[in-house]
Amino acid sequence: MDGGAREGTSGRAFWDPAWGAEYLDDFKALSSFGATAGGGVDRQAATPEEAATRTWFAAWLEDRGFTIAYDRIGNLFGMKETVRGAPYILVGSHLDSQPLAGRFDGAYGVLGGAHAAHRAGLALGGQEPRFNLAVVAWFNEEGSRFKPSMMGSSVYTGTIPLEVALATTDRHGVTVRDALALTQQVGDDDVLALDRIAGYVEMHVEQGPDMEANGIVIGPVVGTWCAYKYEVCVTGAQSHSGSTPMADRRDALLAASHLVVELNGLIDEFETEELHTAVGELNVLPNSPVVIAREVRLLMDIRARDTATLRRAFASLEQRITAIEARTHCTIEIISKSTWESGTFPEGGVQLTAQLADELGHTNASTVTLAGHDATNMNEKVPTVLFFVPSVDGLSHAEGELTSDEDMVAGLSLMTNVLHRLAGEGIPTVY
Ligand SMILES: [Zn+2]
Repeated sequence: MDGGAREGTSGRAFWDPAWGAEYLDDFKALSSFGATAGGGVDRQAATPEEAATRTWFAAWLEDRGFTIAYDRIGNLFGMKETVRGAPYILVGSHLDSQPLAGRFDGAYGVLGGAHAAHRAGLALGGQEPRFNLAVVAWFNEEGSRFKPSMMGSSVYTGTIPLEVALATTDRHGVTVRDALALTQQVGDDDVLALDRIAGYVEMHVEQGPDMEANGIVIGPVVGTWCAYKYEVCVTGAQSHSGSTPMADRRDALLAASHLVVELNGLIDEFETEELHTAVGELNVLPNSPVVIAREVRLLMDIRARDTATLRRAFASLEQRITAIEARTHCTIEIISKSTWESGTFPEGGVQLTAQLADELGHTNASTVTLAGHDATNMNEKVPTVLFFVPSVDGLSHAEGELTSDEDMVAGLSLMTNVLHRLAGEGIPTVY
């Protein structure tokens, strides 16, 4: 079908259903890497499973004329320079996953972005485009093996220093530097510097239930919730869990348990769905039978629509922490935090996305993102477009994550047109 783009008259959106079928076949192949028995994938950053996924994907890009390169934090770029020296429209997402996760989170947008860039590039063949197209698979978006999340795009945009990221260790003490070296999917240079990027586009599954519930196929993202993630160390004293008198105990696991419950209790101080909180990781030392824990490290995740709400929640949490310390004779200390603030996406991109979705006949309504995305980082530096397709039952970060074939292809057709329009005509002036 190469070169067979069906472009309507006067800038109407174009699409060929055969492109959707081809994409779904490729997505099936991509999903075989790190596949789990429960129908999901497990390919955390810089593991052999993720490396195999990237190898397959890099070959896919190369077969279609993209030049492949890795930067110093392992972001994978596929570039096609059709207009010499012109800036790039960058499209992408991430190929890494949480443990026992779904097939769609990240991978949908990376492969979809690549297919769309390929098709849009061919469709632009006869014209004189204004921008080049490049595809990116960001390193370590999930932050499950190496913290924090969105590491590759954070280094790329300068939010995290490269050396800090490379020195980060996983729970076994392996650094990002060593893990990347093992995969050989890392370069020794900046590949595509930020000042060569005119705009960034990402599509992603919603990871929540709203779009499906409202019958929406395309959700141009207008804003992002803010999130504060805290690494916490709870310190107690190790002793015998049978013989130590109850009054003498300094049980770090007990204090951590109170913290988990109190963090959840915070939501009662706010309106429904105004605040989201969770502890998603707990590391207990020594984690042994007949021993009272001396230390627990945990990750607190607090999110809200706006920073003022988050600050109010944190002030209340501090009081609750003081009460837990008094009750358990343990200390609770925040040892690091990673945050992103709430923000809005440029109106021009939202309008363009909605207009093209209309032209393609996809029901659309603007939405906000509660999850962080690489687009959140990029949005602080360059005009950025982010849009969602629905997640069945809103399930994500689990093997049962699902987006229908129809919705996947709807997003792909839209992405193809967004890239075609941006590369051909430039960024809308309303930015
Ligand atoms: Zn994701």
